[in-house]
Amino acid sequence: MPKKNPYQALMQIAARPEIVFVEGQGSWLSDSDGRRYLDFIQGWAVNCLGHAPAPVVEAIRDQAGRLINCSPAYYNAPSLRLAELLVRHSAFDQVFFANSGAEANEGAIKLARKWGARHRDGAFEIITTEHGFHGRTLATMSASGKPQWRDLFEPKVPGFPKVPLNDLAAVEAAIGDRTVAVMLEPIQGEAGVVPAEDDYLRGLRRLTRERGVLLILDEIQTGMGRTGTLFAYQHSGVEADIMTLGKGLGGGVPLAALLAREEVCCFEPGDQGGTFNGNPLMTAAGAAVLESLLVPGFLAGVVDAGAHLRRRLEALAAGHPGSELRGRGLLLALELPGVDTPAVAARALAQGLLLNAPRPNTLRFMPALNVSAEEIDRMAEILADCLQGQSGGPKGIQLALTRAVGESAAIPVSRGGV
Ligand code: PLP
Repeated sequence: MPKKNPYQALMQIAARPEIVFVEGQGSWLSDSDGRRYLDFIQGWAVNCLGHAPAPVVEAIRDQAGRLINCSPAYYNAPSLRLAELLVRHSAFDQVFFANSGAEANEGAIKLARKWGARHRDGAFEIITTEHGFHGRTLATMSASGKPQWRDLFEPKVPGFPKVPLNDLAAVEAAIGDRTVAVMLEPIQGEAGVVPAEDDYLRGLRRLTRERGVLLILDEIQTGMGRTGTLFAYQHSGVEADIMTLGKGLGGGVPLAALLAREEVCCFEPGDQGGTFNGNPLMTAAGAAVLESLLVPGFLAGVVDAGAHLRRRLEALAAGHPGSELRGRGLLLALELPGVDTPAVAARALAQGLLLNAPRPNTLRFMPALNVSAEEIDRMAEILADCLQGQSGGPKGIQLALTRAVGESAAIPVSRGGV
């Protein structure tokens, strides 16, 4: 019997290039052929301290030798430490740990619905935004406003009316007796880094208070230093009732969190849980991440790196009429009308640079928070080269390198039969 292609043992959930990564250090990855890549995706804004950061590696090593799991039915020291740190440095009073962003958002939805059952006469609807992204479980897909998902896995979970982002009047009109909350990302990440304006967020806070409904901020992509403050809500000063974190929280390991103000924390034993939730191994990693972000000067470094990246991207954008640079800190996107950005990302990959194209004309940049100025310069050089290739290069090569890509698929390149 001929041996099966080794890639076929995995379900095909993304158009992956046939590259196998075996090592990472800081902003650099190496594949099984020893080729090096500059990583400006970092697991989709997950490895906030880069690959193999010493504090996280040491915390995991140390914790693995002590206690990996003792069941969420008991307390463990790292989860208590991380919860205490999160509460001390945020506007929230209590934490529930989860294993993915989607699971944290599921928890937020459940908490809001329980609060609605208790305090708003059974109200359960959560107003969310068009093009928003909250995860891939059934409820979080239903809460998301991704047009490509409209008819997928029907029937959806009911109770998620959508409004356009940055339109306060639309939210005001949508709030009714059945509304329990408004939920959104401070910056829509998957939609192509589209910020909720500070004034809009402040208006939402005022409106939700006036109407007696909750405000939920999904900071899974924007939290943990990504925008230059520990949490993105600190830019507008808007303190929500519930916030979710994920991605950067674990520095690469599966860890997410649901945080809420005390008045909203109405879960009772049995309402919420999960076998792996808050396990000591992952929360030890999370505590090491958060302690690293809290080192004086670290977040100022993110602001500086973000400003440097912005300058380099502005210079690139100058040659492209109608281009737009969006985002904050180290979550930036460059929209280049008329440019086939998945093809640009494919060219970049061929030159050893990992870049994400969340939309057909958009590139998203989410490097490690400790990326150096030299690494940003190197990325900009490669990108400039790839953009030149895009305008002048033979279309056939791009087509051969590029395959249609879902918004969250991996690098959009197919080499061989993946
Ligand atoms: N919410 C936001 C804003 C996200 O960006 C993501 C992931 O990209 C999620 C939720 C889902 O997180 P996860 O993939 O860990 O389930």
